Amino acid sequence: MSGPVSTGVTAVVPCFNEADNVEHAYREIVTELSEIDLEVLFVDDGSSDDTLEKVRALARTDPRVQYLSFTRNFGFEAAFSAGYRYASRPWVLHVDADVQFPVAEAHKLVAAAEAGQDAVFGVRETRHDPVVRRVGARFYHFVARRVLGIEIPPGATTFRLVRTELARTIVDLRLGTPYFLATVPRLTNRYSTVPVAHRARQRGGSKLNFRWLVGHAMGLFVGFSNRMATVAALLALFAAAVAGLGAVGAAVGLLRTDVVATVVLGVLLAVLGVLAVAVRYLVAVGAGQARPALFYVREATVPVDPADQLMAEPTTEEARS
Ligand code: UDP
Ligand code: MG
Repeated sequence: MSGPVSTGVTAVVPCFNEADNVEHAYREIVTELSEIDLEVLFVDDGSSDDTLEKVRALARTDPRVQYLSFTRNFGFEAAFSAGYRYASRPWVLHVDADVQFPVAEAHKLVAAAEAGQDAVFGVRETRHDPVVRRVGARFYHFVARRVLGIEIPPGATTFRLVRTELARTIVDLRLGTPYFLATVPRLTNRYSTVPVAHRARQRGGSKLNFRWLVGHAMGLFVGFSNRMATVAALLALFAAAVAGLGAVGAAVGLLRTDVVATVVLGVLLAVLGVLAVAVRYLVAVGAGQARPALFYVREATVPVDPADQLMAEPTTEEARS
């Protein structure tokens, strides 16, 4: 009834220095989804190569193509969030510019969505990425789900089909630590996962560097669970207790002073190390809450909320020429 086939889909394509990929992505999207009322919304995340020129050229030749271009690089989460925010169709399909998930696989997401879901996530049957990424992702999922109790759909990826209203609600929450995957289960229980094919990147390298991945994961761990802060507080209490008991033991002559000093110093060092990391990320999250915006748009073919613009109205290619 209100499924993607009858109501339409916006393919959101976040792009950071993907000049070699945008045309391939465009062609695969329009070929595979030709039977659906389609919008292809590219989000240029402050690329320094020819990505924007390539996207403008596509928008000139195909009215289904729209784009947003940021004032600088704001990062992956910001890029797709802007796309979800400004999608015109009732469903958004997330397609990375490198099309590591074949667009044909979207039909599986569509079928699941038609069965009555608000969000459907692709889960890689076999992941074709460097081993560091595969192992890292498993560890991250384990920590998030099992250690910290954060609800994220098991194995879920960014290859997903989501009701635009739901996606937009999440973006508009403007969370200090935005994490789309973890926010969906907080808003609806009508989500599911579907196994999909995955392939290696064909052109260019990954645009997500290690630092960003770690920071994003820590944002999830700290922003979506209190357990890290609780553990840090308990550790500090434990260190204080060890130091206190040691001091009393040494004072009444029950314990040798040099043994007490060694044990207490060792415990304090270990706890301080953990606290230093915890404070670093708790402060980063606090600072994130005051962040003025997730992204700013410089140029677009769709009407953009003034709050999402840095200065003047974003200009379209047509308006300027
Ligand atoms: N991307 C982006 N902004 C960034 C980094 C990445 O818009 O700061 C885009 C990138 O162009 C790609 C998608 O996000 O379309 C996923 O990036 P990538 O394929 O490099 O991630 P990976 O597959 O390695 O996880
Ligand atoms: Mg990729």
